[in-house]
Amino acid sequence: MPGRTTRARAARAETAPPPFEIAGVRIAPGERRTVDLSIARFYTHGEMTMPVHVVRGRRPGPRLFISAAMHGDEINGVEIIRRLIRLPLLDRLRGVLIAVPIVNVHGFIAQSRYLPGRRDLNRSFPGSRQGSLAARLAHLFTEEIVGRATHGIDLHTGALHRSNLPQVRARLEDAETLRLAEAFRAPILINAEVRAGSVREVATRRGIPLLVYEGGEALRFDEDSIRAGLRGVVGVMRALEMLPARPVRRPRPMGEPVIARSTAWLRAPTGGILRTLLPLGSHVRKGEALGVISDPFGEREVALLAPAHGIVIGGLNLPLVNEGDAVFHIARFGRLREAAARVAEFRSRQQELDPELVAGEPAG
Ligand SMILES: [Zn+2]
Repeated sequence: MPGRTTRARAARAETAPPPFEIAGVRIAPGERRTVDLSIARFYTHGEMTMPVHVVRGRRPGPRLFISAAMHGDEINGVEIIRRLIRLPLLDRLRGVLIAVPIVNVHGFIAQSRYLPGRRDLNRSFPGSRQGSLAARLAHLFTEEIVGRATHGIDLHTGALHRSNLPQVRARLEDAETLRLAEAFRAPILINAEVRAGSVREVATRRGIPLLVYEGGEALRFDEDSIRAGLRGVVGVMRALEMLPARPVRRPRPMGEPVIARSTAWLRAPTGGILRTLLPLGSHVRKGEALGVISDPFGEREVALLAPAHGIVIGGLNLPLVNEGDAVFHIARFGRLREAAARVAEFRSRQQELDPELVAGEPAG
């Protein structure tokens, strides 16, 4: 009965989920695999590859990429991804999670933000097949990762010797991006302009909502930022219905989003040795002293004064400053009091552990 077989096959094809493929490797529903994307050869002869871990749920849904170490020394996101992909919760995944813990492999090995030649990968998008190493890497990421995703989260930290209070930067005039940014529940939301050459620019052009999460400092693990990042990613996956809604209790409603109006770095008016007076997350008033720069004798002291009311969302940890160094990053808000309340709420939540997110936490 050939007619019946053909009909049966046609019916199966209609209900069969569309294939998901990355670098020629096919990942079936319910399967998870690590795929090494070939980038280039090292001058040692060895091959440089970008490792990608794909988890495909049994049921269809969004395809979310999570990337880290786009800047090779920003390693909190590597740990966020390690914890994420070990969560038993992923057994209930809908759609596809595409986890790329180390995008800038050269930088990660060299413990540097950059690629060889001090090229910044996150200024090299969309890249090209024939360009510099940075351009080729950007091109590969654009085609194999961004090109296969419907949504993305790019995990960053502050630069070397600088810490960021956990914050989400995104194009918040887009309603879906705003909804996901809210679901991340970071204390600070910034409607950030899209930087030329960034992965966010590529995603924006392709209509893919992309969140950039920033938390902690380069070359350090910051437990608070890691936990907030893990919670945030899972919150976004829940909002996308890739994961079931939180079963225990509904999170407290956060009310209207509070978005930073602008942010600015306060720079050192003089070189010297810095003493920081206020921690990250502090609510400061215009003219309030954030720190003091002095000479080694304490004879000449210059106070660093807040240029406006706001919240300190980033700061320098290295006390040795040159004139002009960026020292404090301050966000200004239309509704500053509410923003400060969110930071306080975030701090109080830091110790709460969602039992579903504990699987990957260190013991003890
Ligand atoms: Zn970065």
